[in-house]
Amino acid sequence: MQRAVETVAGYVIPPPAAATVPVEDTDEVFPVCRIFCVGRNYAEHAMEMGHDPDREPPFFFTKPAGAVVPDGSTLPFPPATEELHHEIELVVALERGGADISPQDALDHVYGYTIGLDMTRRDLQAQAKKMGRPWDMAKGFDRSAPMSAIRPAAAIGHPERGAIWLRINGETRQEGDLAQQIWKVSETIAYLSTLVELQPGDLIMTGTPAGVGSVQRGDGLEGHIDGVGDLTVTYRA
Ligand code: MN
Repeated sequence: MQRAVETVAGYVIPPPAAATVPVEDTDEVFPVCRIFCVGRNYAEHAMEMGHDPDREPPFFFTKPAGAVVPDGSTLPFPPATEELHHEIELVVALERGGADISPQDALDHVYGYTIGLDMTRRDLQAQAKKMGRPWDMAKGFDRSAPMSAIRPAAAIGHPERGAIWLRINGETRQEGDLAQQIWKVSETIAYLSTLVELQPGDLIMTGTPAGVGSVQRGDGLEGHIDGVGDLTVTYRA
């Protein structure tokens, strides 16, 4: 029997569209390879989640590249959760890959920076932690990585300090400073590159400051990082 599937030469089914993030003030986009996320990179947030911020090396989890959604999106409230949490984060975009990158060389691998939300189904994460199960469905669900346009390091440098905050419906929920990061961007890249060979197009979400909390249907989220950008996302009522 003949199958009615539109074909693309060389593929048995049409290939998925590439995930991309716009680059600020251009018509060009940054192609996303993978999304790595650092857990607990600000002392106060580590403590609010019940951990000692001093004694733990960085750890990582991932989201699918296709979890990226652009600034200004209106999003459906995700399924399978009653406790959707916001985590505002500095995002690093890599233009060069490599393994065993030294902290001294790490920033040479950076294309630019943007501001992202590591949206989290906290109830599913709590259940996974309790049962010793993976976090994938808590962290890597559809549209779980809203991201603003990338600003090239050539234009803004490598931000190491500056306010990072998140407001919901105009009310401040998270507030911190990039200088409070336990692991600096250069150290995070270096450490991650001992675990995997980094690739051009990889994004690293570098952890969130204190103040994570629930998002309700109908909420408007507004994030900011000094010198890096602003991000606005709304959840449908
Ligand atoms: Mn996070």
